[in-house]
Amino acid sequence: MDESKKKRLDDEVVKQAKKSMDTLFDYLRLKTVSAQHLTIPETVRFVSELLKGLGAEVKVLDDLGGNPVIYGFLAADERGNKEKTLLFYDHYDVQPPEPLDEWHSDPFEPTVKDGILYARGTADNKGTLMQRLAAIKALEKTDGLPCNIKFLIEGEEEIGSPGLPAYLKKYAELFQADACIWEFGNKDAAERVELFAGIKGSAYFEMSTKSADIDIHSSLAAVIDNPAWRLVQALSSMKNQNNDITVEGFFDEIEEADAELLQTVRGIPFEKQALVDTFGLKRPLITEARGEVPQDALMLHPTMTICGMISGYTGEGAKTVLPKEAMAKIDCRMVPGQTGEHLLKCFERHLARHGFSDVKIELIESQRAFFSDIHDPFLKLVKETAEQAYQSEAVLNPTSAGTGPMYVFNEYLHLPIVSTGVGWAQSKAHAPNESIRIKDYIDGSLHMAYLLTEFANR
Ligand SMILES: [Zn+2]
Repeated sequence: MDESKKKRLDDEVVKQAKKSMDTLFDYLRLKTVSAQHLTIPETVRFVSELLKGLGAEVKVLDDLGGNPVIYGFLAADERGNKEKTLLFYDHYDVQPPEPLDEWHSDPFEPTVKDGILYARGTADNKGTLMQRLAAIKALEKTDGLPCNIKFLIEGEEEIGSPGLPAYLKKYAELFQADACIWEFGNKDAAERVELFAGIKGSAYFEMSTKSADIDIHSSLAAVIDNPAWRLVQALSSMKNQNNDITVEGFFDEIEEADAELLQTVRGIPFEKQALVDTFGLKRPLITEARGEVPQDALMLHPTMTICGMISGYTGEGAKTVLPKEAMAKIDCRMVPGQTGEHLLKCFERHLARHGFSDVKIELIESQRAFFSDIHDPFLKLVKETAEQAYQSEAVLNPTSAGTGPMYVFNEYLHLPIVSTGVGWAQSKAHAPNESIRIKDYIDGSLHMAYLLTEFANR
């Protein structure tokens, strides 16, 4: 972009971003809590009108059940590149606001204090969508849209996107694009812009064993086996004291990281002390004992974690009881290639081979991992334009800690995906007092305007 063109665009983006705040406030006032089925039709109408206001062709897809998926299309201007299409993935639903008494202001009445805007959905993800629309408006008002733009805006992200795979499969043709910008992102505590080019998968399991119909007097432990011991022994056969996962086949499906991905991963900042302070950690990191690079472990290694266990008496004082059953919840964070179904088979085979055929395991839910190809020039483009717009360092993470339906997008649309959004280190998405900073909102609009412009040129 030449300097005078850039200046004109900058001014217009700032103007449009500021102007869009009133509309953002109206959007935030809608209590679109998908978990509680609130104001879905009103919000779908609101978002559709917003897109139409920009001149978009809009389709509300609702023929496959669940909350509607909104499709939007804006064609490149005559002067733009009609061969390139960027897809935005966002969601119009939000998390429930509870616990209400921990909010300092009404979660559905946007409140600005010291340049910070508080309301449910500011960061996740209503503010992010509005910031994109402000950038588009500014481009329309200056040199026209540089490329085609599509939107997929769903209403079930906060409840795990159960309906989305079916819509993507049926409407894959409609949503075809060359690259996709995903729905979340933030600045970290050191004011670096965090971008994410992938998502780890997750598989959630329930493991249980039952040995009697009722709890038993513990004196009978002399003759009756204890399901809590059975479960603990089964679990300890799956992971040793060095934290090696010892389930045969567990690592079989993993796609190996190439040298460039490895290098990128090791370049990501890792703040050990922040981790220790935040959680009050009492023990050394397991990567230290294992001699591993923590960034490798965080992004490229799968996990197997006991999320919770329950059996017998855990109340105050003593109750001498031999429990009738024991149960544990296990979650596995997966890397590309792994599937929950395969892990389930590995666990079942492992338990049977180790003499724990009484221990049952069930797959509750799973979502596969997806990493964009680290060599794809789109990734570099998103990072470069972020640094120009925010005037600060940007960190491109090959994967994020969160989950989401990225894998399905790639399965039907085959495209690189990078996630970026309007959050900051204290955004508190999903928690009380969710917020964004107005400065980030404007800078993020600039980022989107630069990105669309440069994307069209390459
Ligand atoms: Zn969320």
